[in-house]
Amino acid sequence: MTIDITKLEVLAKAASQGRWNQDGFEVQNDDINNYRVARCNWLADAKFIAAASPVEVLALIATGKQQAQQFKEWQASHHANYVAVAEERDQLRAEVAGLRTGYEAYERVNAELKAENEALRGVMSAVVSEIPGARISRAGNAPGHCHSIPGVWDEDNGSKAGKECAWCKVWNYAVSMGKGDRP
Ligand SMILES: [Zn+2]
Repeated sequence: MTIDITKLEVLAKAASQGRWNQDGFEVQNDDINNYRVARCNWLADAKFIAAASPVEVLALIATGKQQAQQFKEWQASHHANYVAVAEERDQLRAEVAGLRTGYEAYERVNAELKAENEALRGVMSAVVSEIPGARISRAGNAPGHCHSIPGVWDEDNGSKAGKECAWCKVWNYAVSMGKGDRP
């Protein structure tokens, strides 16, 4: 059933305003002298008409309109929230996709660097083993060097005395790199 609210409102506004009161089978308007609104056959009808006075009907219509407006606002706010959450979700999705791409690129570069490192290690090991005297060099001294303290120039080497021997340092680094002791 469709209720014609507009028509009901027009009729309620046109009817006599004021306090409707049931008095036996009659309904009076207490705010107008000797004003009988209705005379009913049934007591229940008189009671109902008094209760459903224009003032009451207009208040009911106003409440309905207010609720409809509140519902509209709630819907709009709900929609706005949904849009905001959906936007955030899309943004997070894009961020995750970006991170995944970045991580995959990192993994790829890492694998390439590892392979390159392994290859360099092999080359270094081969180079070190081919240098003349490599097999007879004393631990810590490069081939052909015989520092009493490995890698440090002896007292009789003038200005170099007591200082680190650069070639021994490079040699030791190359040896340990070839063995895989260094990154
Ligand atoms: Zn040396």
